[in-house]
Amino acid sequence: MKDPFNSPKVNIPRTIKHLPAEAFLTAIAHRRREVRRRKVKPFKPVYTCSMKVTEHFKKAKGKTLVSFEVLPPLKGGGMQAIFGTLDALMEFKPPFIDVTYHREEFIYKKRPSGYYEKTAIRKRPGTVGICAAIMHRYGVDAVPHLICGGFTVEETENALIDLNFLGINNVLALRGDARQFEDKFIAEDNGHKYALDLVHQIVGMNDGRYLDVNIQNGERTDFCIGIAGYPEKHFEAANDNVDLQYTKLKVDAGAGYIVTQMFFDNSKYFEYAEKCKANGIDVPIVAGLKPLTRRYQLSSIPRKFFINLPQDLVREVQKAKDDVAVQQIGIEWCIQQSKELKAAGVPCLHYYTMGDTETSKMIASALAF
Ligand SMILES: Cc1cc2nc3c(=O)[nH]c(=O)nc-3n(C[C@H](O)[C@H](O)[C@H](O)COP(=O)(O)OP(=O)(O)OC[C@H]3O[C@@H](n4cnc5c(N)ncnc54)[C@H](O)[C@@H]3O)c2cc1C
Repeated sequence: MKDPFNSPKVNIPRTIKHLPAEAFLTAIAHRRREVRRRKVKPFKPVYTCSMKVTEHFKKAKGKTLVSFEVLPPLKGGGMQAIFGTLDALMEFKPPFIDVTYHREEFIYKKRPSGYYEKTAIRKRPGTVGICAAIMHRYGVDAVPHLICGGFTVEETENALIDLNFLGINNVLALRGDARQFEDKFIAEDNGHKYALDLVHQIVGMNDGRYLDVNIQNGERTDFCIGIAGYPEKHFEAANDNVDLQYTKLKVDAGAGYIVTQMFFDNSKYFEYAEKCKANGIDVPIVAGLKPLTRRYQLSSIPRKFFINLPQDLVREVQKAKDDVAVQQIGIEWCIQQSKELKAAGVPCLHYYTMGDTETSKMIASALAF
């Protein structure tokens, strides 16, 4: 590194300690001023991208955007799995890509003694690294999902500092679900219970507030915050009004846009958007979509995501002779959904790829993005 003191422009003797006391202090003060004067250039990440998701919407001026969500590979897998998926999808010019976050899960390992031991493992680590790799390789903004589950507030702060240092300015703030074998969501001791608390913490850092109150004039982060929304209500909420009130609190706290849970009936999205508006929630609502591709999903999707499948779709899938036919039906259904949503001018169609590149590709191709 270049020595800032060793420059001909700074006219200070190198061995200032041999100066008389007064001259010594003057020289030190001069040195400090000089270093301050030569301010470090403002930080610019190495990526060619770095826009907020909300800025992408503004820039699109009402045109519907397309984006994708990917999962980190199972531990032991490599980046090729992600690049394999995304290489094929870049032709659709997604302005941003979401990367999910997966907290640790409990598994039971059999010990030589014959007893089972409960162990916590994270099966899909790597969210932050994948986001940086995506931005670096494609010059496309990445949106890491950040959850409350498994994080103390200090760990959350440190994770946000990592993102900030990497030049990742977007984050989808979520609570996360209950762990396997737990019947309800349990926050860490000194962790957030609700996504709302996480939004507050991120907004605080955007204002330069850190947990340590002794940090004065802390660096202000500049995160654009997205949150989850549920056209068919979050399964724990007493009713959709209650759910919407909490969504409104998150938006009022500083969330800039909503990404919906997947839905297969567009009327659910349109009704939800109306209700949001009526409740003063006035932010872009990204439509989360996933094609149904296997017959067993007729029961697994409603069970896992607490959503309904329209009767027409169920009937078609039940009639299909095999999973190839089911996939055709699912893709066609998703294309029709996407066309209608696009015609209605939704800000963004967001596809949950779940590692299935081909299906997402066929749908996006049909829409001519
Ligand atoms: C687009 C999208 C992406 C997702 N990505 C991930 C992911 O990457 N990783 C992951 O683990 N999970 C992910 N999830 C799942 C998500 O974490 C779960 O749906 C979770 O159960 C709720 O998350 P939330 O952020 O909506 O929670 P919250 O907003 O905290 O809401 C949870 C429940 O509590 C209620 N509530 C909210 N605030 C309060 C409050 N202040 N007081 C009382 N009740 C309140 C709500 O009505 C709701 O019923 C995603 C979901 C969506 C829709």
